[in-house]
Amino acid sequence: MQLRRAPRWLVRLARPLSLSGIGRRRSRIDVPTDRLWADLRDGIASDQLLPFYQPILELRTGKLIGFESLARWQHPQLGMVSPILFIPIAEDLDAINELSFTLLARSCRDLRFWPEHLGLSINISPMQLGDHDLPAKLIEILAEGGLAPERLTVELTEGALVSDLDSARRALTALRNHGIKLALDDFGAGYTNLKYLNELPFDRIKIDRSFIGTIDGFTGRMIVRSIVTLAQSLNMHVTAEGVETSGQATILGELGCDHGQGFLFGRPMPAAAAQRMVEARFGTALRRAAS
Ligand code: C2E
Ligand code: MG
Ligand code: MG
Repeated sequence: MQLRRAPRWLVRLARPLSLSGIGRRRSRIDVPTDRLWADLRDGIASDQLLPFYQPILELRTGKLIGFESLARWQHPQLGMVSPILFIPIAEDLDAINELSFTLLARSCRDLRFWPEHLGLSINISPMQLGDHDLPAKLIEILAEGGLAPERLTVELTEGALVSDLDSARRALTALRNHGIKLALDDFGAGYTNLKYLNELPFDRIKIDRSFIGTIDGFTGRMIVRSIVTLAQSLNMHVTAEGVETSGQATILGELGCDHGQGFLFGRPMPAAAAQRMVEARFGTALRRAAS
């Protein structure tokens, strides 16, 4: 299995060391994690954190329906750093809210001239749900940025366990009451996915990409089919993550999966590139609106 997110214990252990290459696909320079710990707060405050956007498509029609915002850190000396490395650090530094709020405000600016039917998905760590102010703060940022709450999906990752289910339910219900949609991310990969599904009010399931990678085989296909059936029974939409081949997209469509996301449709990209993708699909009116 691929390492997608360094566990907190690994990041902590690696503090005085270097994690070679994990955070920087194209660079051969090591990422000294002690620098990340020391620099993250300043990085957030000085706008070095930015959203990259990965397209999400409707599988039946191939229509672009929105983007997932994925955090990147443009570190002045280390270059582009992966969220696998810095999200656990932001959680430990208690800076994860600040990071999320900064990114959402920036996304609101980026999406200002994109067609209104395009949605935005953001990732929220479960530990953020313990903060009673979270729903109000997200709503405030959306209002200031002019993004309708109905366009936002909050994806809950299972990086940290939800320690207080009552608080989590309160926060998620408040978001939902404002029209924000809720997705359970990386479904099937974690230990507690089914428990969360049973206890918390989700609208969408995102099937973990490890299952999409094995969809060519009988077992993988049956697992995905079961997840799609489960989602349909619960009246939820289902998105497949990590779609890399047209064969996978075809099978997913046949299985009734609603949405797809993966390198086949586009890698996470900076706002300008996402804007070009939107323009290519919906014409040049956007450029005129923005100028
Ligand atoms: P995620 O939310 O499950 O995001 C999907 C990850 O899969 C992204 O990795 C994306 O680049 C990668 N991916 C997408 N399509 C493919 C594919 O076809 N093949 C392969 N091999 N990978 C694919 P990324 O950007 O490194 O993000 C890793 C994780 O970091 C995210 O997983 C999410 O859990 C977390 N993360 C990212 N941004 C934020 C954020 O702003 N806040 C929080 N709390 N977590 C974030
Ligand atoms: Mg996600
Ligand atoms: Mg995911």
